[in-house]
Amino acid sequence: MTRFEQKKALVTGAAGGIGSAIVRMLMAEGAQVAVADRAVAGLDASVHLPGDLLDPVYSDGLPKAAEAALGGLDIVINNAGVIARGAVTATSDDDWNLSLGVNVEAPFRICRAAIPILAATGGGAIVNTASCWGLRPGPNHALYCMTKAAMASLTQCMGMDHAHQGIRVNAVCPNEVNTPMLRTGFVSRGFDPDTALALLDKTVPIGRVAEAEDIADVVLFLASDAARYMCGALVEVNGGKAVA
Ligand code: NAD
Repeated sequence: MTRFEQKKALVTGAAGGIGSAIVRMLMAEGAQVAVADRAVAGLDASVHLPGDLLDPVYSDGLPKAAEAALGGLDIVINNAGVIARGAVTATSDDDWNLSLGVNVEAPFRICRAAIPILAATGGGAIVNTASCWGLRPGPNHALYCMTKAAMASLTQCMGMDHAHQGIRVNAVCPNEVNTPMLRTGFVSRGFDPDTALALLDKTVPIGRVAEAEDIADVVLFLASDAARYMCGALVEVNGGKAVA
């Protein structure tokens, strides 16, 4: 398939589990991709834009940098994210600044800068990675749930506000995905990740935790013309395991 021939895309969190699948699959379908993450040197991509999303100058400038390097910009994927674990009483100022900075402020800045660029050429697509915990919170991840709820709300607002410019803004809302984010969480709590994953598989109605490609496929759909009438949608990708 070459759904993305001639399309130019910016992907954040491009070195991570879901991000690297998105980049690989976009490129396999003909897109030119600018990859953003703290370290991107080894990634197969059209353009490398390393940096720290906590730096507002970097986040503000990413869409313009991608447009300049790619010769245009059609698709923006705000996928980077961090997870802070614990109840509010167990979280620090550093947790707050990191979670709000990466999960909310950076995508806000990137969208704010990208929208005029997309509008100037008749539109485009923005896909944000929220979480099903942004729709219905789970226990002991207060900051994470709050930031993903903010991402979900921002997606709905931008989906309404910019549809008239031909810009579709949607979000994917995964449940658990087998990536470094999930596995390092097991390790930090003293569990063997493979054993913990095998147990977690049994809690998912479809029989397994998602792989990064399961999420990336939906991100690509939302970025594609097949989703041309979707604006502000929050798409749960959960193998049947909705958060109660
Ligand atoms: P991951 O940890 O593998 O990837 C996240 C990427 O974001 C990393 O490459 C990391 O370097 C990058 N990043 C983090 N802070 C950054 C910063 N300050 N500057 C630049 N880049 C930064 O995790 P993943 O599972 O691939 O997560 C991708 C997205 O999916 C995240 O938004 C996450 O919240 C969301 N999500 C993940 C799961 C899951 O179970 N893995 C579930 C729901 C939603």
